Amino acid sequence: MKGKVYLVGAGPGDYKLITLKALECIRKSDVIVYDRLANIDYLKEAKEDCEFINVGKASSNHLLPQDDINRLIADKALEGKIVTRLKGGDPYVFGRGGEEAELLYDENIDFEVVPGITSPIGGLCYAGIPITHRDHASSFHVVTGHPRKDGKETQAINWNALANVKGTLIFLMGVSNLKHISENLISEGKDKNTPVAFISWATRPNQRVVTATLENAYDVAIRKNVQPPTLIVVGTVVNLREKLNFFEEKPLFGKNIVVTRCRTQSSLISEKIRDMGGNPIEIPTIKIQRVQENHELEFEIERLKEYTYIVFNSKNAVDIFFDKLNDMNFDARALSNIKVCAVGAETAKAIKSKGIIADIVPKKYVSEGLYEELKDIINENDKILIPRAKNARDFLVKKLSEKCYVKEVITYESVIDTNNKNLALKVIDDEDIDYITFASSSTVKNFMQLIGKDNIQKLNNKKIISIGPITSKTVEDFEVKVYKEAKEATIDSIIDAISDDKK
Ligand code: SAH
Repeated sequence: MKGKVYLVGAGPGDYKLITLKALECIRKSDVIVYDRLANIDYLKEAKEDCEFINVGKASSNHLLPQDDINRLIADKALEGKIVTRLKGGDPYVFGRGGEEAELLYDENIDFEVVPGITSPIGGLCYAGIPITHRDHASSFHVVTGHPRKDGKETQAINWNALANVKGTLIFLMGVSNLKHISENLISEGKDKNTPVAFISWATRPNQRVVTATLENAYDVAIRKNVQPPTLIVVGTVVNLREKLNFFEEKPLFGKNIVVTRCRTQSSLISEKIRDMGGNPIEIPTIKIQRVQENHELEFEIERLKEYTYIVFNSKNAVDIFFDKLNDMNFDARALSNIKVCAVGAETAKAIKSKGIIADIVPKKYVSEGLYEELKDIINENDKILIPRAKNARDFLVKKLSEKCYVKEVITYESVIDTNNKNLALKVIDDEDIDYITFASSSTVKNFMQLIGKDNIQKLNNKKIISIGPITSKTVEDFEVKVYKEAKEATIDSIIDAISDDKK
């Protein structure tokens, strides 16, 4: 049985600049062969048992020679596997996709090619440079800065044509050949004052753009240490960048922000960071372990009608409770005559997604806030159910018990996630990390445990953002300064605290 190969363009780097078709290929593959220009975050979308093969590091320093890559892809398909060959940009734009496809054709292996947004298109756009413009360029020309040196006529670059064409010129793989490129263009008649832009790591949070003129391009590139991968753009369209540079203007552009929540919850904050142009670095410190075969919870759900209030302190508590309801073949109507209380906006949102609008959401998103709201309206006839985490603060249960019957049921436990210890250690030494966010006291404690006592003081070199006073206090107990505290205990408010922070 023969498998199938998809030669897939992964786009220029921004996580969302990939096609639906490419994602579908990634999700169904048994093997993914990728190199350094494809955003590796896409690998998270793959099947659990998918095999990942990294075949490239730097552009001129392939881990595997091209012939071996071609062979590898074909062999995996011949084993009957579905293979995705994931390449940065588009597979046919200097990606040697043609050569890979030819071998597949020769070996009679089924293949499809999925185009991607190529870096000259996506990269110029994110640098604020329109690739054509009626006032500036009526064509664009994508040129290799690294032509074959084996004397094949078809590969020779026609410098005279390029110098005189009046279109936007984009050189790929051109950094090491820059002197040659600019000299040839000038000697064939291109104005030496033509603007030039170097766009490195285009569309990524670490995108960097340096501008020059054709005449001083080489000196500027050396002085500013321009390194691959870089697009070299030559043309007056570069000047429009002053007006059209939407990407670098985003409030969190260029900021590297560590997210320490558990994996399932970090996606929300990461998504918001990305939307605002920042780079989220997820280091989950918590894993949620549900109580297995929770008979106690089942028992309370059976007698739910006896309760007058139910209190949820977290999205996890909501999700676990409703999963159990569902398992027991009940729906949201089981809560129809109970007042539902939610501590925190996210908790309220989670309840809403289950079809119920919380009756009480305290203005202060902590247990004390809920107690304030409840203390004057409950009486000894009320019965309150609180499904929640093991080791949660006992304030609420204690205070409410003074007034009426309160039943606490443990539904989950937050435990330390030790998978990310090495990443955590790396991050605290990394000068490029700007912020570390903590959204609860347990993320603080777990993070400190991950990095170990001896490293805790290094956190004083980072900007620590805390979700609220209790979390801040936990940080300070470790003798680490809190740089900023969110005004409200929400993820949005954490993000606001960072975006308001002018560096
Ligand atoms: N198939 C790719 C190009 C591969 S050639 C595409 O369609 O984009 C590799 C060269 O592409 C790099 O040397 C660099 O010049 C350019 N390149 C690709 N992605 C880039 C990025 N995100 N930022 C800057 N240059 C990029």
